[in-house]
Amino acid sequence: MHRRMLVPSALAACLLMAIPASAADYVPGAPGMGDSYYPSGGNGGYDVSHYDLRLTYQPATDLLQGTATILATTTQNLSRFNLDLGLRVSEVRVNGRKATFGTSGEQELEITPAVPLKRNQPVSVVVRYAGKPSEVRIGGWTAWHRTPDGGVAAQEPESAAWWFPSNDHPLDKATFDISVAVPDGTQAISNGVLRSQSSKLGWTRYNWRSDKPQATYLATLAVGRFDITTDTTESGLPVLNAYSRDLGDNAGAARASVERTAEVAEWLEGVFGPYPFGALGGYVPNVTSGYALETQTRPFYSPRQFANGSNVSVVVHELAHQWYGDSVSVHHWKDIWVNEGFARYSQWLWSEKEGEGTAQELADHVYATRPAEDPFWTVAPGDPGPDDQFHIAVYDRGALALQALRNEIGEEDFFAVLRGWPTEFAYGNAKVGDFVRYAERVSGRPLAELFDTWLYRPVKPAAPAAAGVGVGLRPAGVEARASAAGPAEPASWKKIAETNTVHDREATARGHGTR
Ligand code: ZN
Repeated sequence: MHRRMLVPSALAACLLMAIPASAADYVPGAPGMGDSYYPSGGNGGYDVSHYDLRLTYQPATDLLQGTATILATTTQNLSRFNLDLGLRVSEVRVNGRKATFGTSGEQELEITPAVPLKRNQPVSVVVRYAGKPSEVRIGGWTAWHRTPDGGVAAQEPESAAWWFPSNDHPLDKATFDISVAVPDGTQAISNGVLRSQSSKLGWTRYNWRSDKPQATYLATLAVGRFDITTDTTESGLPVLNAYSRDLGDNAGAARASVERTAEVAEWLEGVFGPYPFGALGGYVPNVTSGYALETQTRPFYSPRQFANGSNVSVVVHELAHQWYGDSVSVHHWKDIWVNEGFARYSQWLWSEKEGEGTAQELADHVYATRPAEDPFWTVAPGDPGPDDQFHIAVYDRGALALQALRNEIGEEDFFAVLRGWPTEFAYGNAKVGDFVRYAERVSGRPLAELFDTWLYRPVKPAAPAAAGVGVGLRPAGVEARASAAGPAEPASWKKIAETNTVHDREATARGHGTR
């Protein structure tokens, strides 16, 4: 409790200000943000506003070294506090003074400032560090992708600790200046706008700026040999896409997909409202993994996403996340549906407008092809648990929930909700319950039963038309266009499924169970 509450008189307050507070008034910041899925993610006691990273990376050795300057405000009296980092630290300064530091666990950097920190004060932290990200193991794995010509940081739910010290949780967003020097002929790709680039003594430095609040896991770095395309959108935003020169057979399909970024973003603006950031693009490094990630302003795409030809659907998914996931982020990781349910539903909407199957047809297909015994129905998209955070049910059943909502509240209110939400919670965080309340407010209808049915109950909901209940996967009285074999497979189905790689294999193999 705050001291003034105990000693309310003005005189006592004055005396207290004159007397230095005793050491007991300063306590260590918590080593985690209190996330039930990832207890050690993030830290307590302060709030970061800006990260300034000045880095050097040598592809030949995978050596990353640099200095991070972190601007924050304390939220309590602090005797010490933590940052999340897996690399080796050589010096820490807090408000200009040398601080002592140590490590605990695999990713906790514990910093004890020379002078304890008072609540509600600005604080600057400078961390000098170095190491080989591919050798850093946290929870038994590395989030860093080593490539033949460099490396890439792009992982969810955590990747920051492999390349910079941070308060690694989506609840603490900040702006970023990321400056990276790499050998001439190599590029460093990151978030936001490329402000400048300069060459000296065989090294080229790239200066990137992401000037809207950004969650730490959405910060990205890709070093390698890239071909870069740049453009400006009709509304004046800079577009920058980057393609590894080492994409082999997938190069054409990758470009044919990611070069449509501006077009897809413009279409999404029609659905979700104004694009929330000041730059856009995408990059395709020469990694061997199979997934994509909504890194802010500049999504990451694995070449394998394009192994069967162009895949605009995955571009739709990652760009939809710029509104649903990046601007409006999860509060805690159990809220993952506010990201993935909507990104998947956007793919359905794109299919609908392309004439490759309506969202209703895609919903019918999911419903028909997942029998009641399928474990798919035991995963609750509204709180899937850390081991199933990226289970296909979070995506497909999560999108079914939105189709049910659409049928329940009608086109006008449904699209008003989709468009209003990114403004209501812009640049912030939101819980599943916040969305339920928001949809109830916009539509003026009680929706607890509908969301309970589609997001929480561990069973396959009854076929709505037959059951005649108001949790309808289709409007009352409308039957699915079914033949004996069930509804036909929409043309977009396989393409959308190509974005599932991570959910079925890697996300599970990543083994949250080991943490
Ligand atoms: Zn997604």
